[in-house]
Formats: sequence, structure tokens, C-alpha cells
Amino acid sequence: MQQTLTVLGATGSIGVNTLDVVRQHPERFRVFALTAHKNIMLLSQQCLAFSPEYAVVADESGAAELRDILRAYKSKTEVLHGPAALVDVAKDSQVTTVMAAIVGAAGLSPTMAAVEAGKRVLLANKEALVMSGHLFTSAVKRNGGQLLPIDSEHNAIFQCLPDNFTSVAAAGIQKIILTGSGGPFRETALSELQHVTPAQACNHPNWSMGQKISVDSATMMNKGLEYIEACWLFNVTEDQLEVVVHPQSIIHSMVQYLDGSVLAQMGQPDMRTPIAHCMGWPDRIASGVEPLDFTRLSGLHFEAPDFQRFPCLQLAMNAWRSGGDYAVALNACNEVAVDRFLNGEIKFTQIAEFIDQILEIWDSSEPVCIDDVISADLEAREMADKVVRA
Ligand code: NAD
Ligand code: MG
Repeated sequence: MQQTLTVLGATGSIGVNTLDVVRQHPERFRVFALTAHKNIMLLSQQCLAFSPEYAVVADESGAAELRDILRAYKSKTEVLHGPAALVDVAKDSQVTTVMAAIVGAAGLSPTMAAVEAGKRVLLANKEALVMSGHLFTSAVKRNGGQLLPIDSEHNAIFQCLPDNFTSVAAAGIQKIILTGSGGPFRETALSELQHVTPAQACNHPNWSMGQKISVDSATMMNKGLEYIEACWLFNVTEDQLEVVVHPQSIIHSMVQYLDGSVLAQMGQPDMRTPIAHCMGWPDRIASGVEPLDFTRLSGLHFEAPDFQRFPCLQLAMNAWRSGGDYAVALNACNEVAVDRFLNGEIKFTQIAEFIDQILEIWDSSEPVCIDDVISADLEAREMADKVVRA
């Protein structure tokens, strides 16, 4: 059956790779809506190539600009704007599948709307799950939707689990091994880290990604967010989840079973593999990714994460352990701090320092609805803003 697709964050790194997979399988996918924040030029090209019913942008001026371009090409795509329109195109009754690829907390409401509407949700926007945890996973169950992980590590784990997976205990799993490359500063002298620039932080050795996740990879906050993401997706406890640094990014994560077997998923560090896996699931479809050539691999190396070098990883693990809405505060402060670092306002090493300061004084409570999550997010942002400005 053909899937009708909304791509939230179509102009980002994940969005562009998603449309590349769609282009290879026109019989499988019809594009219903494409959304972007500010990149009107790219979104206009995508609209002309995929003829969606709707395109959504941030504001009225962007919408006017996009309408002008599309009109010149006699495009029938209707242009909407604002957060409510993102929700509308995520939950529309015609949509079967939503690629959730907006970066950060901005993706929470439309992603939750897709979940509430029982869609097949392809989750790249890990921040949404980190923030809303059990509210998110219980809404998936309650509404009969499907949650398929796009994040390469979680997609790898998903591929290494048995088809009828219900729990790690029932599946005979000893632990899940979450791998991470260690980013561009794995071997930089610790004393140099305070001087690294945004351009250096965004220059990931293996993956080409958006700016925010690139900085998160350099601090290993990305692995911290993924640690929390894995806890929610696979319902594991701390002793069932281990982070291992694997600089080559060929193994994307592993599952170790009670009998000593370890299943690993491997492939090129190219997001079109997990994207095609989720988009075709349960079928396997071509992604356009080059196959691995084992004779040309120089070796696979592994080491334990260095928490002195990567304090953000420890902060995220602590936030998970503390429960309540600590993960909401962690994520919000991280978004503020990364933004300031990218703007040249704070040092790389201050990202962890600011998050730590806020979490030390954070007054946690258990969110009972998404509005609680959203207000905790706003409160943490305000606190982070003050600390960064002080
Ligand atoms: P990106 O910065 O390249 O793209 C982000 C997209 O979100 C763009 O389309 C942008 O227009 C849109 N957007 C940004 N702010 C918005 C806002 N306030 N409202 C509405 N739309 C907004 O990011 P990316 O690298 O594609 O990452 C997207 C998500 O996928 C992130 O959550 C990231 O952690 C996750 N992810 C990315 C990769 C990767 O390889 N890039 C891998 C795993 C997970
Ligand atoms: Mg990942």
C-alpha cells in the first residue's frame, strides 16, 4: 500500500535524505506535506519536485515569499505558516506516515500530534522523546500508532531485536551497547577544548548533520540524549545499557544476549540506511547507500567514554536517573547553550558548565501532560538565558 507522507523539517539534513529515498521509490510514497523553518529557497525546490498538497513555513513573510515562487511555476501546493499548521499537517486524516525531523523542542507538538493521531511516526527528533518520555510512549500504545527509530543507533538496536520484542528480559537480552564516535574532539588535549570554534565542533569526522546535533556530538550530549532515548524506546535499566566509543562509526550499536551472542548492525555512516529501513519497514528497500567494503576497512576500535572529556554525557545519565522533568531541563539548557556557542557568545566547555549549574538548582516535578513539559521547557530556557547572560 502506498504511504502518504508528511516530512516535518524537510529542508534539514534528515529531511533532505528522506526525500532522496522517496525519490527512489515513487510508487511507495506520496508526499502530502513538507515543512521548513526559514529555508524558503530549498523548500520551494522540494515543492516543485514532489508536489505536496501543503507546505508549511515559520511565518507570514516566509509564506508570502514561497507563494510568489510557487505561483510562477503554477504549483498547486497550498502554503501555510506557524506552529498550528505544523500540527495540522502532522495529524491530517490523509497522512499515514510522519517523518519527525524538526530539530529540538520545536518538534514536540507536531510529533505528539502525529502520535495522538495514531500515525506511523519515524522519529529523528530525539529531543521530543527525551522531553516527554512516558507521555510519548504511552500515547503511541494508546493510539495504536507505530514508532520507528531513525536515529542510527536506535535503528541498529531495533534491527538486532527479535521481531516479537516485548522486553529485554523476555527476549533473553543481557545488555544493549550504544556506540558513539566520540566526535571531532576525542583526542584533542583537554586544555585546548575551551578554545575550539563552532566550525571545528561542526566538523564531524564521519557524519554530515545539522549544526545543533553536530555540536551535541562534539560534547557527547548527543550520546546522552540517545541514552535517554534508548531507555524509553527499549525499556532498559541502567545496568542493561552501556555506552561504548567506536570512532569508525561502522557498527551503529549492538545487542548482547544471555548466551554470549552479540548482534551488531553495520553499514556506512549514511542516514539514508536507517531512513530507508523505517520507510520500507517491514520490507527492505534500496537507499542509495554504497555497500560496505570490508577489505577496505582499516579496523574497528572501541574504548570506554571519558567522562572528564565529555561531562555532558554524565549530566544526561544523571538526569535520566533523577527522573521527574530533569531531562526536560537538561534538553532546554543544552539547546540554549549550544545556540550561544554557535553564535560565539560562550566557550565550548561552558556548555556543560551552564547545564550543570541549572540542574543543580532545578526544582523537579513529574509532568502529567504535554503542557507541563512545555512549561518546564520554557522555565528552564529562561533560567539558562539568565545564567548565560550573567
Ligand atoms: P537540521 O538543522 O539540518 O534541520 C532541522 C529542520 O528543522 C530544518 O528543516 C528546519 O527548517 C526545521 N526547523 C528548525 N527549527 C524549527 C522550528 N523552530 N520550527 C519548525 N521547524 C524548524 O537538523 P538535522 O540534522 O536534520 O536533525 C533533525 C533532527 O534529527 C534532530 O532532532 C537530530 O537530533 C535528529 N537526528 C539527526 C541526524 C543527522 O544525521 N542529521 C541523525 C540522528 C538524529
Ligand atoms: Mg544517533
